[in-house]
Amino acid sequence: MTFLKTDEQIELQRISNQIVAKALAEVAKIIAPGVSTSDLDKRAEEFIRDNGAIPSFLGYKGFPATLCTSVNEQIVHGIPSTEVFLKEGDIVSVDCGVFKNGFHGDSAYTFCVGEVSPEILKLLRTTKESLYKGIEQAVEGKRIGDVSYAVQSYCEAAGYSVVREMIGHGVGQHLHEDPEVPNYGRRGSGSKLKQGMVIAIEPMINMGRRELVTEQDGWTARTVDRKPSAHFEHSVAIRKGKADILSTFEYIEQVLGDKEF
Ligand code: MG
Ligand code: MG
Repeated sequence: MTFLKTDEQIELQRISNQIVAKALAEVAKIIAPGVSTSDLDKRAEEFIRDNGAIPSFLGYKGFPATLCTSVNEQIVHGIPSTEVFLKEGDIVSVDCGVFKNGFHGDSAYTFCVGEVSPEILKLLRTTKESLYKGIEQAVEGKRIGDVSYAVQSYCEAAGYSVVREMIGHGVGQHLHEDPEVPNYGRRGSGSKLKQGMVIAIEPMINMGRRELVTEQDGWTARTVDRKPSAHFEHSVAIRKGKADILSTFEYIEQVLGDKEF
């Protein structure tokens, strides 16, 4: 079921997404070689609770943490661990959800750990750019397939592959609502976008093959060929003419400064 939100509800959802954005910036401050993914998780949970909110992912279908931290060939849903230490040259997708005032916010960013190879930087840049290509299509009157096609065509033109099994989604009172928002598809196909819909667009883009496997922990999705994967996500409200991005990377970019790619 697709829920249409009132302007008041969208403003509440903006508050949740702004907390997500700032929590990701807190994480950005401590990302460095030698830091564990559990350290990132603790920092985010503390920040979220200090802001009177609840981590959306903690306990969701049994997920054991506040963040999903997915390193290098891990695509999404990596579980933070005291035994996983970031290394120079790694990338880590950090996905965060926040629940406050009855509404969820959901956003993700893939960070570099120290210096990353030019090939991987290009994958990150392309994936982030493809998110905004998708967002350009997320306006009243367009269809889900227009968003999907924009992401897919941009990434495939750069020589990358698009994950099929994991997709974006509606977001609101529930973390995952209709409609489904695949990162691949045909222009003009799928449900029509309407004012008041809020969707999470989240390209998951692989340097090599698109296929994934799920690790034995039952959560972590990684590339079958163990080549790197990137992931960026915004929650956006559908409007006439221009999408309203409820989350933001502005706080992250302030922390990264000239290290931003
Ligand atoms: Mg997310
Ligand atoms: Mg999501």
